Amino acid sequence: MADFNGEDGYSGPATLSLSVPTLPSSASQTPEPAAPRDAPPATPRADTLDLRVTVDLRGYFQPIDGRYHWHGRIAAHDGLSAALASGRSTATISTPHGSASCEIADPDPWNRYRITGTSTPPFPSAFATGESTAAITDTPRRASLPSHTRIAIIGSGFGGLGAAIRLRQNGITDFVIFERASSVGGTWRDNTYPGCACDVPSHLYSFSFAPNPLWSRSFSRQPEIRAYLEDVTDRYALRRHLRFDTEVTDVRWDTANSRWNLRTSRGDLAADIVISAAGPLADPSLPDVPGLDGFRGEVFHSSRWNHDYDLTGKRVAVIGTGASAIQIVPEIQPRVARLTLFQRTPAWVLPRRDRRITAAERWLYRHVPPTQRVARLGIYAVRESTVGAFVKRPALLKSAQRLALQNLNTAVADPELRSKLTPSYIMGCKRILLSNDFYPALARPNVDVVASGLAKVDGSTLISQDGTAVEADVIVLATGFHAIDVPIANHVYGVDGKTLAEAWQGDMRALRGTTVAGFPNLCLVIGPNTGLGHNSMVHIIESQLRYIVDYVKTLDRFGVAALDPRPDAQERWCDDIERRMTPTVWNIGGCASWYLNAAGRNPTLWPASTIRFRRETRSIDVDEYHLVPTGGSAR
Ligand code: NAP
Repeated sequence: MADFNGEDGYSGPATLSLSVPTLPSSASQTPEPAAPRDAPPATPRADTLDLRVTVDLRGYFQPIDGRYHWHGRIAAHDGLSAALASGRSTATISTPHGSASCEIADPDPWNRYRITGTSTPPFPSAFATGESTAAITDTPRRASLPSHTRIAIIGSGFGGLGAAIRLRQNGITDFVIFERASSVGGTWRDNTYPGCACDVPSHLYSFSFAPNPLWSRSFSRQPEIRAYLEDVTDRYALRRHLRFDTEVTDVRWDTANSRWNLRTSRGDLAADIVISAAGPLADPSLPDVPGLDGFRGEVFHSSRWNHDYDLTGKRVAVIGTGASAIQIVPEIQPRVARLTLFQRTPAWVLPRRDRRITAAERWLYRHVPPTQRVARLGIYAVRESTVGAFVKRPALLKSAQRLALQNLNTAVADPELRSKLTPSYIMGCKRILLSNDFYPALARPNVDVVASGLAKVDGSTLISQDGTAVEADVIVLATGFHAIDVPIANHVYGVDGKTLAEAWQGDMRALRGTTVAGFPNLCLVIGPNTGLGHNSMVHIIESQLRYIVDYVKTLDRFGVAALDPRPDAQERWCDDIERRMTPTVWNIGGCASWYLNAAGRNPTLWPASTIRFRRETRSIDVDEYHLVPTGGSAR
């Protein structure tokens, strides 16, 4: 049954009519036999076939640059898929509300076709019917900003989109999502390096409330995860809340009005609440290496991959041995002339049990959704069962170390190379990496491992800390992100006029990983001490989102303008984390990692189970907060 609720767009049946070229060799595969239940038979012609199929349409409307733009997705249809095998096409789509011509794009990973039109949409819309005519003069991408919004969300990765979905599901629709880039996806939009994939299985690395039954592999690659995030953006009607190409540059608490004043690259506005989901893996960390600026060749960071630069036949230096580097190296090794890996610290690498998800499994997940929930739960439970080893008994990780050494020994015969690649710290102290092809790639004749950090660059020569000199045409910096010195902290000014960065002084602290004393009505998604070494960050994000939704509801329930964490409550929380952190592998594992700050404290990871975090963030405890009355002081 068709469903329309104004801003959410249209969901219901539609008839798609199009002419497609006939393919003589596949005459027996023409879509006629597969014609849908209520469609008249296709009419064959000499070189084209007129096709009418009934499809399920999810349609959304956006006014862009004063023109009507609408888009939607239609489910896969056997006849249509066969007919469109040759590529894009134009068609007419009709619903009980009207007809419009549209473009059909290539299918997405789930075999659904995205259709777009630039006319009055073939379904009713609050905008199109004039209820919101002001917005038609502009676009969500370039729309003028409201002067005030209840909630400003910064970032549209998993955190920002998840927050938006959860707000909408709780009936809160007065919010704007600010995105400095031109599309959603966060780190899964930015990281397009060869081989980019997730090392957490897809069933678990996705929202529990938005499963994707059509994941193609157990560990999804970046394009599929990015497409998933685009898809949930459509599924949950978030586009009208998004402001792309809009960077939030300054966020200041306005004590007199108990709200935030935001400055953005496209104008100013006020917000009652700010949810920062800017993410810890957003801003590349470039090594402070003398001479790097003057390198004669090409230099780029793993998260800003230069796809215009062809690595074929080049001498490539890869800096770093983190999760990004080990995915890049095996992908580029076969085509480069020489690859030199600058390794400051070797990683523990376990085999990656990746496989294609079969069509039968996908059918099952699609048609019997509980089966996917069971699969998700199984993956979650296995991962969660390892938490004790990370946070209480690191010695238990020694058996996994044996597996990793076996992995190394099987792939690398050369004892000297093996010794370079063998870590001296306890596994888990740095992120455990998963790969089947990293070690084999390092054993190839065109690869060298320099077991020393990059110290200096002189012209086209890279010089390591141990004095090894290497000539290169291109440097790939797989050197990580500003994860513990998140740049957004320099732009948020709290009650005392100090920035978050000034308040933290290199030592991030928050109450329940989410709110910060002196910064009322600011919620951080993936805030201090919320990171994980053993399980999916999406689980943590969802816990935080529940806490944040309850935060918003608490404001309404108590009729107050703001909640400001009590410093003593925040300190109690941080002290407990400190106590739990003492026996963890991150503290005693014998490595230097970006999890730790200059003072040697770990402000990034959560030192307990994800179940405990969920319990601790179930709801707001108002005793932990100062309640700020409307127009009142935060203290
Ligand atoms: P990373 O883990 O921070 O690794 C940075 C690497 O650069 C480290 O090996 C570091 O060495 C090295 N490095 C820095 N300066 C150097 C220098 N001057 N010379 C030589 N090496 C230098 O960064 P990343 O690999 O981009 O990963 C960041 C995070 O992104 C990961 O922890 C993970 O959370 C996430 N990630 C996840 C996936 C996934 O599959 N889910 C994939 C990629 C990334 P040291 O070890 O000695 O410091």
